[in-house]
Parts: sequence; C-alpha cells; structure tokens
Amino acid sequence: MPRDRRGNRAAVAAVEPEIIDCHVHNDVYLMGGHIKGGNRKDLPAMADRLGISKMCVSSFMALHYDFVEGNNNTLRLMRELPDRVLGYCVLNPRFGDLALNELERCIVKGGMIGAKMYPVPPKWVADEPSAYPLMERLSKLRVPILIHADPVAPIFRLADRFPDATYLLAHMGGGGSDGLEGMYGCIHESKRHDNIYLDSTTSNVESNIIEEAVRVVGAERVLFGTDYPCIEPYAQLAKVKAAAVAEDERALILGGNIKRLIGRKRV
Ligand SMILES: [Zn+2]
Repeated sequence: MPRDRRGNRAAVAAVEPEIIDCHVHNDVYLMGGHIKGGNRKDLPAMADRLGISKMCVSSFMALHYDFVEGNNNTLRLMRELPDRVLGYCVLNPRFGDLALNELERCIVKGGMIGAKMYPVPPKWVADEPSAYPLMERLSKLRVPILIHADPVAPIFRLADRFPDATYLLAHMGGGGSDGLEGMYGCIHESKRHDNIYLDSTTSNVESNIIEEAVRVVGAERVLFGTDYPCIEPYAQLAKVKAAAVAEDERALILGGNIKRLIGRKRV
C-alpha cells in the first residue's frame, strides 16, 4: 500500500491505469514571453504532481524558431530523463531535404516516437505538396503525427491523401480559426477518418467534451494530453478523470491508446 510523506496510507484504487501525457513541450522558457517551464527539472515535477509516468514531448523552439536546434533540445532531454521523456520530432516540410534528414536523424536513429507538425499559414498548409515526401516516410514508419489544426480542412484532406499515416489531432481540432470548425465539428468529421485520433488538450475546458468524443469516435481514438506548460495541466487531467465514461475506456484515454500507437513503429 503506497504511503504519503507523512506515512499515511494513500487512498488509491488497487490498480490505477498508467497515465501518459501525449502532448507536452520542452524549452518554452527559452522562447521568452510570459509562459515559463519545460526544462528538465520542471517537467518531471509536473508529471509527479499529476501522477503521469511518461511525457511525449516536442520542442517549442522547434515549432517557432529553428527545428534542428529545438529537436536537439528534445534529444538531450530524452537522454537526461530516459524513463520519463518520449520525443516528437518537429518537422517543417518547406525545408525539403533538411526536414527529411531531420526525420531520419531523430525518429529512425534518435529513437523519437513520432512527429509534431504545426501547419499554420504562412508557415505552411497541411496538405501542400511539399509535405508529401515527409508524409510518405512517416506512413511507412507507422509513427503518430501530433498535428495542430489551423486551418482544419487541409488536415482532413491530408488524412484522405495519406490514409496509412496516423494523425493525432491537437486540441481535438479546436484552437483553429476556421470553422469545420471548432472542436465539435472536428470530432464529428474525424469519425469518417479512422486514421485520426483526438488529443484531449483544450484551452477552454468545455463540459462533456470527453464524453462527446468517446461517443462519436470511440474511446480507442481519444488520448489524454496536457499541452504543458502552455496550458495548466491539472484541469486537463481532471477533465478526463471526471468524465462519465467506463473505467476501461478511461484507461485507454489516459495511456493505453498512446502506448498502442507508439508500439506500431517500424524502422
Ligand atoms: Zn502544444
């Protein structure tokens, strides 16, 4: 029986499901602004506070500044915290061979579990031809792609064009500015695409959103994430823990699904 720091028995269920966070960022603190965190001390502290065993991490610097330098930060963090940190390789297809080389360096040789993509114009549009070589390679590797959806429609076109790729739709498609639009539209559109999974992080904590996602696409395609440190993580976990779903469904959402997706990788 686990005990807390004062020696009291912790009130825990006999078997707690493993909690794996599918959406975390490192090195946010390097990018300035008001959001701090994402370093090698602060990330495990967050995970310990919430009972998270592993974090799937992508570099904030790689998303918004230099993806090679940012991916290096993630690789370093994976070495420093091998039991806690799983890495996503941030890729921008407009860089052509540099992005393809980065995919090989980080996912094939470096042991990262998948890709993180941020197709927000004017950076790039999700289904533009420059992305095709990366998508072909990622499809063959069978790794999840955590993808931000703004705008949303190109993501669904991409999913149709590359049906063997696995898409983890950040924020359940919310956070975008066009209107499939908005989270509920995205959840329902995702039903038509069995290669699209929904990341539960949302900056607004809508009521019943987890239940709605489970009802429409099934618990096998909903994954718990926090988007820490960009979003306060406790509310993200509470939203899943409090959702009116079956316990086996909750276990899939909290960690079972991402584990299954990570296990598909073929190099
Ligand atoms: Zn994020």
